[in-house]
Amino acid sequence: MKNDIIPSKVEIRQLGKVYDGSTSSTPALQDVNLSVEHNEFITLVGASGCGKSTLLRILAGLEYATSGEAYCDGKLINGPGAERAMVFQHYSLYPWLSVLGNIKFSRGLKANRGDITSSDVEAAAGRADALLNLIGLDKVANSYPNQLSGGMQQRVAIARALLGRPSMLLMDEPFGALDAQSREVMHDMILHIHRIEKTTVVFVTHDVEEAIYLGQRVVLMEPRPGRIHSIYPVPLPRARDQDMKHTAPFRELKAEILARIRESSGMATDLELLDKLCAQSSAL
Ligand code: ADP
Repeated sequence: MKNDIIPSKVEIRQLGKVYDGSTSSTPALQDVNLSVEHNEFITLVGASGCGKSTLLRILAGLEYATSGEAYCDGKLINGPGAERAMVFQHYSLYPWLSVLGNIKFSRGLKANRGDITSSDVEAAAGRADALLNLIGLDKVANSYPNQLSGGMQQRVAIARALLGRPSMLLMDEPFGALDAQSREVMHDMILHIHRIEKTTVVFVTHDVEEAIYLGQRVVLMEPRPGRIHSIYPVPLPRARDQDMKHTAPFRELKAEILARIRESSGMATDLELLDKLCAQSSAL
């Protein structure tokens, strides 16, 4: 039998990025190598400034690498593509459009430009209704963004990103502005979407607990220059539930990653200093 090798969804090879400023240049990424499998949910975590957003933006085609390359489905990424949709922390919905209007907006625009036909737009309307159901907002389809909570607005932004059936979702701290309770709801919702839509997800966060809860693998990055330190497979069943956060494998992995982040960001030295100061003041 022929042994076909299925290529990874994403291949990142020796990727580097230097931002050139007027007086200095910033090496944001160096020698990044990573494969992401089809339908995998992978999370990128690390201290601020370690290049997580830059890497995601390169995968989205919004930023160019200055060395190395990244491939999606075997094709070199050299600009945005319909198969890759991005979700940002600030959802920027159109306030004058309803929930449904926001989800369908980009399709309407393309139809106006002649990129797609009116039957495509009709199909997109059916898809928009299905997505409203999937994200649990069918009851508020005709509401406006200012009538929705932050979590609900972010759900609309996710549905909008999913409208064109992207095979990959790139998410940049999408729940960073939400309160803790809304975040937990969104975590279970995005896992549900991942299961149903079968997209590959690359998810950036600085929250280690979020990274472990959502990811099948957690990529830990380090700053100056931004690079991958380690890749941790998450030792939990894929069907997650909130109680898993209290299990030993979860807590151990969280402690290990947090310790490494504290060390690489200089926070460990700050904490040691603080301990010393506390000891000195209690001795007085
Ligand atoms: P993270 O998402 O992990 O916080 P970023 O990718 O935002 O990291 O940034 C990585 C490094 O690149 C940081 O030192 C940051 O200051 C720098 N950087 C990011 N974007 C730009 C830019 N547009 N111009 C110059 N430097 C940038």
